[in-house]
Amino acid sequence: MYDREPSPASYSAVLMGSLIVLKLAEHNATLAQSVFRLISQLEQVFTVNRAQSEVMAINHAAGQHPVVVSAQVFNLIALAKRVSLLPASAFNLAIGPLVKRWKIGFQGDSVPPADEIAALLLLTDPHQVILDVDAQTVFLSQPGMEIDLGAIAKGYIADRVCDYLRLQQVSQALINLGGNVHTLGSATNETGWAIGVKAPFAAAEALIGFLTVRDQSVVTSGIYERYFLQDNHCYHHILDPNTGYPLDNELLSVTVVSDRSIDGDIYTTLLYGMGITQGCKFLADKPGISALFVTRDRQVILSDADQLHFTLLDNRYQLASPTP
Ligand code: ADP
Ligand code: MG
Repeated sequence: MYDREPSPASYSAVLMGSLIVLKLAEHNATLAQSVFRLISQLEQVFTVNRAQSEVMAINHAAGQHPVVVSAQVFNLIALAKRVSLLPASAFNLAIGPLVKRWKIGFQGDSVPPADEIAALLLLTDPHQVILDVDAQTVFLSQPGMEIDLGAIAKGYIADRVCDYLRLQQVSQALINLGGNVHTLGSATNETGWAIGVKAPFAAAEALIGFLTVRDQSVVTSGIYERYFLQDNHCYHHILDPNTGYPLDNELLSVTVVSDRSIDGDIYTTLLYGMGITQGCKFLADKPGISALFVTRDRQVILSDADQLHFTLLDNRYQLASPTP
């Protein structure tokens, strides 16, 4: 995901293992510093890639005792649990043990033995994430269970960044958290922000085309983001909660345009699991949320051609309509 605007003021930092870019209409290094500080504070709350965080405190106490957490952690986990329990949901907040075992995108990634996957699957039941609203506690009822908010933390953080920028009276801005872009207003002298849709498995800056948005979030989840190859098979980082293996279907990526980045993050994973036909049906009664699917046979499919402003740049790809 790339924003293509040459912007008067662009700031970057490496946080959460990603290149974070903030674009503003005017130079304001102090503001940029505060935004990066906010992102880094939030990362330290939600991460499972460090020994300590609020989420890790819950994971460390799995099978032992409930843990009191802050309101923001409680609410995000409650939302993630609701989404995990939707019928046939591809999203599972308790997927942690499998993510840790596969190590996809980290050193030492390899295909685990089938019996290990089967055993770990037993530790991923979202029902066993026990929430107590009154006590504001989260309890993982089995030892070895682990919450992983990796699929939605960036969306949550992107929304908090935009809240903060609005509070600071900023009316034009773009934040790119590496796959999650959120925007305020439009780029200077433009109707919107042009957000590039990356060409899968191509040079880092290669684009299929771009979406033009204002005040909206653009989130992409793709199998080319983090993966490893073994025996000519691509193992990528979105796992199927039913099988414990990477989701396997016709898709290379799903991009969601929405008002809130948390929705974009939730829906990219859900839509990944649904595929195009079911995904477009699912979105039909969700105004304000639309998706762009990129398929293995190089088709680009828009769930709603009226709502999405997409410009195709790479003629090896073909714009197609969803089949009813
Ligand atoms: P990224 O922006 O890093 O590409 P995504 O939003 O696509 O991330 O989410 C992928 C991450 O979510 C994985 O790295 C893992 O931590 C976690 N994850 C993998 N499979 C699932 C799943 N089925 N449900 C929820 N989270 C998942
Ligand atoms: Mg996501």
